[in-house]
Amino acid sequence: MDSTMQHTPLLISSLLRFGTTVFAEQKVITWTGEGSRELTYAEVGQRAAQLSHALRKLGIDGDQRVGTFMWNNAEHLITYLAVPSMGAVLHALNIRLFPPQIVYVATHADDRIVIVDNTLAKPFSGLLAHLPGVQHVIVNGSIDDETRAALEAPEHVVAVHDWDALLEGEPTAYDWPEDLDENSASSMCYTSGTTGNPKGVAYSHRSNYLHAVTAALALGAKQGDRLLVVVPLFHANAWGFPYLAMAVGASLIMPDRFLQAAPLAAMIEREKVTFGAGVPTIWNDLLSYLETNPADLSTCRGLVVGGAAAPPAMMKAFQEEHGITIIHAWGMTEMSPIGTVAIPPTTVEPGSDEYWRYAAAQGRLVVGVEGRLVGPDDSIAPWDGESVGELEVRGPWITRSYYANGRESDVDRMEMESKFHDGWLRTGDVGTLSEDAFLVLTDRAKDVIKSGGEWISSVDLENAIMAHPDVREASVVGVPDDRWGERPLASVVLRAGSPTTVEDVREWLAGRLPKWMLPERWAVIDEVPKTSVGKFDKKVLRKRYAEGELEVQTFG
Ligand code: AMP
Repeated sequence: MDSTMQHTPLLISSLLRFGTTVFAEQKVITWTGEGSRELTYAEVGQRAAQLSHALRKLGIDGDQRVGTFMWNNAEHLITYLAVPSMGAVLHALNIRLFPPQIVYVATHADDRIVIVDNTLAKPFSGLLAHLPGVQHVIVNGSIDDETRAALEAPEHVVAVHDWDALLEGEPTAYDWPEDLDENSASSMCYTSGTTGNPKGVAYSHRSNYLHAVTAALALGAKQGDRLLVVVPLFHANAWGFPYLAMAVGASLIMPDRFLQAAPLAAMIEREKVTFGAGVPTIWNDLLSYLETNPADLSTCRGLVVGGAAAPPAMMKAFQEEHGITIIHAWGMTEMSPIGTVAIPPTTVEPGSDEYWRYAAAQGRLVVGVEGRLVGPDDSIAPWDGESVGELEVRGPWITRSYYANGRESDVDRMEMESKFHDGWLRTGDVGTLSEDAFLVLTDRAKDVIKSGGEWISSVDLENAIMAHPDVREASVVGVPDDRWGERPLASVVLRAGSPTTVEDVREWLAGRLPKWMLPERWAVIDEVPKTSVGKFDKKVLRKRYAEGELEVQTFG
């Protein structure tokens, strides 16, 4: 049958047009430190048009890349919408990567123009000399003469522009191209993997569109929501939030550079946040802060937590003390990123043990994402909630290859190819799937601790230790052991001023875990080292241990 539906391409410009007209009154609110500044979505649409006209004049054509070096703010959102809508490709640079990695990714992606926040202009000027492909820099906000001179210094920089001046006078409407292929690239992100070079993932218009709509459904985002987007716009496609906000008509609260617990609590209270998104460490810090600094968070019904395992103790504390439901989700940069969302089945009694088992899982596969567990001998493990395997996934917003520009080393190329298996993406995550598609991850394949004949999940141990009321954070890594091959080492951050020792924590844990899981080696640390996107950085802890930098106490 030929006479089916219209072949309307799924484009970011459709989301932009829809969100900024149908929901013209919704707002993007950017925190300024003392208060906030606001733009309506109607204004966002106008500025997106102005930015696109300006970028065309600066020579952006075809699928050329426009980089951003920015916090979460209104101008970043405008860029997120404008660049793909005009047919170019947005590349949000991770401002927290080490400088050589930023240079690597901006060069690999071939960024032509970079838009930079004024508060990041100085560090960016230090990188610019190493980015010969960047011809124009657009600065959001004012900068001093010295910083401007530093940005203008490299010979390859044609001009440094001021955001407001550049947009001024440009038409506030744009004839967004409608003949774009929905499968063409709209944006890209690089993985923040801690080994090897970061790998590029190119999202298409279609994948972003479908992901936004599904993410909104799966997370329960709705019209009029006030979404606090703590997850950086440069981390894993900002979990789809900029585009899902357009689709459902929700306002966005952007924290800019104010990511500490105190300003986040103020934002939730003053901006009447209803829902938020961020990695566990962000919400864990907020929870500790609230213990001594009460705030009215009554408007907030939920926070989605992903990027790393959400400790169940934190989830329960938010629910019981603040009435906020933590929604645990799992995904990857390669998956746009959402793969699973943990919403317990309606048949389960809220607050029961069964409820918490579901809520603390990584979640149920969302519609569109297929998963399978592959055992070590390549056999497919059943969905019985017990059989363990590496999760492989496929679906319309899961990458089918990494972005390659032909200049990769052989090692990089081999590593990139090794992540795919007969059309499925190997996630590197190990766990179980239940009959009703709930994923429980036991570990990253490389973080599982192999102790004698037993496998110990570092995540299970971390969750068990973090359930102790005087433990703020805990990270567990496997370290070499003469007798067992490998044993867990627990590095613990104790609550400030608490008289509890790690020996006390170990004794407390002894009643809760089998003996063979109980770590003998413990270290008290000031803070768990974090990666560029705020996850526990186990590589640093392993190195500190290997170099004798950790003060380790041994028991048992
Ligand atoms: P990224 O691409 O930086 O988002 O990293 C993706 C990886 O983060 C996944 O492969 C997991 O190892 C880890 N991850 C993401 N979400 C979760 C979660 N809810 N629980 C445990 N690990 C997670």
